[in-house]
Amino acid sequence: MPTILPTPTDRVRLSRVARAADVPCSVARHRLAAAAALVLTATACSGGADEPASAPPPSVSQIPAPTATSPTPTPTPTATPTTIPTPTPMPPPAFDPAAAYAVVEHLAGTIGPREATSPGFQQAAQYVVDTMTALGYEVTTTPFPVPAGNSWGVDVEAGTSRNVIVDPPGFDPTRPHVIVGAHLDTVPQAPGAEDNASGIGVMVELARMAAAQPPGLPVRFIAFGSEEPRGDGDSMHHFGSQFYVRELPAAQAAALAGMVSLDRVGVAADHVPVCTGGRGTTALRDALVAAAATAAVPVRTCENRSSDHWSFEKGDLPSARLGSIPYEAYHSPGDVPAVVDPAQLGRAGAVVWAWLGTL
Ligand SMILES: [Zn+2]
Repeated sequence: MPTILPTPTDRVRLSRVARAADVPCSVARHRLAAAAALVLTATACSGGADEPASAPPPSVSQIPAPTATSPTPTPTPTATPTTIPTPTPMPPPAFDPAAAYAVVEHLAGTIGPREATSPGFQQAAQYVVDTMTALGYEVTTTPFPVPAGNSWGVDVEAGTSRNVIVDPPGFDPTRPHVIVGAHLDTVPQAPGAEDNASGIGVMVELARMAAAQPPGLPVRFIAFGSEEPRGDGDSMHHFGSQFYVRELPAAQAAALAGMVSLDRVGVAADHVPVCTGGRGTTALRDALVAAAATAAVPVRTCENRSSDHWSFEKGDLPSARLGSIPYEAYHSPGDVPAVVDPAQLGRAGAVVWAWLGTL
């Protein structure tokens, strides 16, 4: 088995060390806002322009009273009132459609077709590992076997594909959480800009936002391997998500509050499709529809089973899919970045971000 995906542990450790080194000073600065602790903290943290170093003026009883024989006292300097700096609040993160589109261009324009066991797929998986690690996430990949078959008219060999699992630092999957996922693979003949670099692009941008402003429930992001069919029937596609659900320990299944699949979310339309498979609960779909209204994004509900949400729905786990606008270049060499509309990526991202904000 190729070991093409080195763990990002070292890089994560390094960034933690860097963060840890910042702690004493930043803690001191926060404490600075509390007037009672002003002097102690200011003296403990040197060099900051906003940190007064002057001691408080002595109390009146400590000032020696002038006597007739003593020399003219030096006037006691008047302490300048200190201004406690007001922390500048960080602006809330905003979805950047151009950033999501850049991911589409890299995956579909630079890397190209990403059949689930191909070098192109492995290159794309490494790209997701590197991108998410740089955002501060803990990233692991889980390999799983896929069978030989026929994928959209092209014979494919048996082999190994991977899920890329992206967790915030300290994530505990047995505690309540949600999953936002998108499949990373393509059919062999398609560069897969819409199907499904669009979903990965939106997912990466949401991960950037969630890192800057963590939602109420932690989000596990997953780039699924081998979603595309390798034959007919329910068992011959969605291999990555089927593997994930099959291997999911009961405690993690119980802690999963919802799974959203982003699949074909970039072709221009006047709405975002929000689908379920028609078998399980529609609670998550309804929550996404309600969140979309608060984000002023038009949506339409729909029923389909042709994405990774279906693996979760079959496992009685709450799930939904965003996307599925029909388009001419579907599963063809014409599925290039030009078929993707950055504004539509923004609509899909806004729906998911609004939903994450309700958790
Ligand atoms: Zn797809």
